Amino acid sequence: MNTIRVLPEILANKIAAGEIVERPASVVKELLENSIDAHSRAVYVSVQSGGKRFIQVRDDGDGMNQDDAILAFEHHATSKLQTAEDLGAIATLGFRGEALPSIGSVSRLTMRTRPRDPELVSGTEVEIQGGVLRSVKPVPWNDGTEITVRDLFFNIPARRKFLRSHDTELGHIARLVTHYALAHPEIRFTLESEGRALIDAVAVADLRERIYQIFGEGFLDNLVELSGQAGSVRVRGFSSRPHEQRTNPYSQFFYVNRRMVRDKVIASAIRQAYRNCIPASAYPVVILFVELPFDEVDVNAHPAKTEIRFRDQGAVHDLVLETIESALVRSATIPEYQYREYAAPDFQRAAAPYVMPPLQNQPDRADAFDFTPPSVSPNPFQRALNYPFREVPAAIPARHEDHSLLPIRPDMLVGSALDPAGPFQSGSVRILGQLQDSYIIGCDSQGLLIIDQHVAHERILYETLASAVQGSVVETQGLLVPLSLELPPHQAALLERMIPELNRNGFVVEPFGGSSVLIRSVPAIAGDSDCRRLLSEILEGLEREERTLDVDRIRDRICVSTACRAAIKVNMPLTPEKMQWLLDRLALTRIPTNCPHGRPIILRFTMYEIERNFGRV
Ligand code: ADP
Ligand code: MG
Repeated sequence: MNTIRVLPEILANKIAAGEIVERPASVVKELLENSIDAHSRAVYVSVQSGGKRFIQVRDDGDGMNQDDAILAFEHHATSKLQTAEDLGAIATLGFRGEALPSIGSVSRLTMRTRPRDPELVSGTEVEIQGGVLRSVKPVPWNDGTEITVRDLFFNIPARRKFLRSHDTELGHIARLVTHYALAHPEIRFTLESEGRALIDAVAVADLRERIYQIFGEGFLDNLVELSGQAGSVRVRGFSSRPHEQRTNPYSQFFYVNRRMVRDKVIASAIRQAYRNCIPASAYPVVILFVELPFDEVDVNAHPAKTEIRFRDQGAVHDLVLETIESALVRSATIPEYQYREYAAPDFQRAAAPYVMPPLQNQPDRADAFDFTPPSVSPNPFQRALNYPFREVPAAIPARHEDHSLLPIRPDMLVGSALDPAGPFQSGSVRILGQLQDSYIIGCDSQGLLIIDQHVAHERILYETLASAVQGSVVETQGLLVPLSLELPPHQAALLERMIPELNRNGFVVEPFGGSSVLIRSVPAIAGDSDCRRLLSEILEGLEREERTLDVDRIRDRICVSTACRAAIKVNMPLTPEKMQWLLDRLALTRIPTNCPHGRPIILRFTMYEIERNFGRV
């Protein structure tokens, strides 16, 4: 008996749809691309429940007559491609003729459309349910097309189950609309969720104005403009100065011929361009357009069309790298190369004898341009450290970098078993002074101690704040003049749900029209730190969490960010009293040895270590 069977059409279509329609944002993507291909000047997107219940995209583009409106839902039906040669040089965003039938097979879909044809008196309404054509009828309609998608995956419970929370899905949709809005400043884009406008960007002259519309004032100040060309490949856009870092890649927008793409070649060129000026765990902001002849890129690599292949990927890589590097150099923001040595603690290696590195191993001029990270070598300070010192992220930012961007180490938040060497006691420490206004130098019977003042204070503030939040006694401080903060649309969507927890942590924040918020009060502990920056940092951190945010996670993120922002900085002179206060308070914390990101607070240089290095033992 034969066992192979051709699948029934409806089942085959559901399977095929799975590749294109992964989540609500994929529907929005396909519909937006169709609207852009149809020469629209305005595209309105409206969603409910993160798009799970309702997605509507309306445009004022070319529209369709009745025959086309029906044909559009046939598989492989497209107006954008005719011959096999066309496939070699695709100039439109769509070409597969698969999106509408796929979306129609996994939802309840209604389309209303009318072409720009004065002869036609009415438009057409088509209804599809789970891939079955339910009705076609004439309706009064203006030019353009409106597609409404309800109950996505109603007939594929397995897929529906894997959708994330409303906020997460809405975040994906907001990023998607932002993506295409940046690529097409000449088109008006709006996005509303449950009646609230998250994006409203009217048509403008260029990318710079569009960036201003979407991300608000100040955002452009931290970007440098990119422009480069090599042969037939052109690169343009903006990327951030090194101090402007993000904890997630959500502020990276890549396009090839104005198609949004996910591309490893571009991503790796960007990483390389920034490798020496931002920590490995941070992401720069990048809005990058690669333009090249249509026949030099294959866009038919994946059903979702976000993966592409360059004919000459080396050329694209090098051009992106050089363009960003030279823009950073021109804006004089690349810091001098710093030789960073950071030994990952390894107790086996720690037991090995310390050998002075031979001179030729020191970085010389030539090495200084080879930006590969220096190899890890044992370092007397870490080796001699007597406090618990678990594994620490390999790339530690240079000390002027913003280490609040590092991921939080859950095991560093509250105390666990302390090291056998015994807890840190400030009473036995004599303070000798301050090194470069950044480190407290002290000694005790065992040797020399170096304490990083910023992370020490951060640890103290973190524990104070965390226990205040626990006991609901957070002190808040009203701002004399409330501060307004413009958020990127995807963060504005997130903020709303965070408000109650922010309140419990001492923030009074309220929506203020569009994607702006008003900050009225902040935790008293935050003092006069930059409240706008603090709030954006908290949201950025929360955004990275793909899992449903629970109260503890939100709380940790808020406490850690607040503590880091509020802590005294490096390069700040301290009086002996202040230093003593810091050490006394540090000794009272549960983990005086590491900050919540896992960085060490205290380095110890034992007498044995000192004497051995002087050749006395
Ligand atoms: P593709 O975009 O790959 O051609 P789709 O399934 O997305 O395939 O759409 C099928 C066809 O329907 C398109 O080729 C286009 O002719 C028509 N179409 C879809 N959306 C619109 C729209 N918003 N305005 C005008 N025509 C559209
Ligand atoms: Mg399409």
